[in-house]
Amino acid sequence: MSTIFGPIYSRRFGVSLGIDLSASTKQCNFDCLYCELAPAHPIIHQHSITPVSTIIHELQEALNTHSEIDVITLTANGEPTMYPYLNALIDEIDAIKGVKQTLILSNSACLTDEDVFNALLKLDQVKLSLDAATPQTFKKIDRPAEGIEIEPIIESITRFSHSFKGKLFLEILMVKGVNDTPSEINALNRALSDIRCERIDIGTIDRPPAYAVQGLSFEELYTLSHLFDSSLPIHIVSRRHAEAAVSSYSDEEILSTLDKRPLTQEDIDALFDTESKTRFIALLNNGKIARIERSNVLFFAPIENIHRKRDK
Ligand code: SF4
Repeated sequence: MSTIFGPIYSRRFGVSLGIDLSASTKQCNFDCLYCELAPAHPIIHQHSITPVSTIIHELQEALNTHSEIDVITLTANGEPTMYPYLNALIDEIDAIKGVKQTLILSNSACLTDEDVFNALLKLDQVKLSLDAATPQTFKKIDRPAEGIEIEPIIESITRFSHSFKGKLFLEILMVKGVNDTPSEINALNRALSDIRCERIDIGTIDRPPAYAVQGLSFEELYTLSHLFDSSLPIHIVSRRHAEAAVSSYSDEEILSTLDKRPLTQEDIDALFDTESKTRFIALLNNGKIARIERSNVLFFAPIENIHRKRDK
């Protein structure tokens, strides 16, 4: 499967071309309750590794086709900072990206590794997740591999935030009854007090989760946001599509994009041009794409993706 997916419109980062640093299988050092991918035992090292040359070749081809890209996003079917050649890859992307920004979406765990820390310093934008600040809640929500502890992660995020010259974003994903308690928010307030960042996005589950957990309503998120220290740049993430730019997708690109991220009809209307919507409907009618409903929201995903998901 290609390592490149999209273009995809991110409500927070603009039009993005994604690079999947674990395209063939999920490889992650966490097994989060809310993961959009199928549950998998957390691991420390990648065993399925795509060569840098393959990724760069595919990226160059995609950049030749899609000129409207704002950002090249390093992500993964899992955790992108586990990719062992991350530093070399970032150098090669820098050589061909032109004015486009580079971004990584990370769970923060590998930031304790100095090589990863220094590689991420080279990026234009970094988004780090921090779902909990106490050891017990961290283990409950993110279900990390053995040996990964939250205290050194918070220390590394803090240190990184004082060294990084680009834009740093934090994300906290709220799961009902797990990390939404006042005591956990107090612990997060203490952890966040010395972290310098552009924005702290508080979100919740809005796509089918790996395990049977629930998100919060907008009203609950709004109420919760008042428990955070008023000096913090807290932002409640909501699904907005108004500024999206439409693009052309081939059949393979539609399936690859939906495989990485199930989309709603609203997402599809915002992302796909007229011909791509026609191709999408044909794939739907041919049984290549299925509808899945979770918490009153209808998503579209490739049939293969649904078969990989665990039945609840
Ligand atoms: S949500 Fe991200 S960090 Fe958590 S298990 Fe899934 S891929 Fe890994």
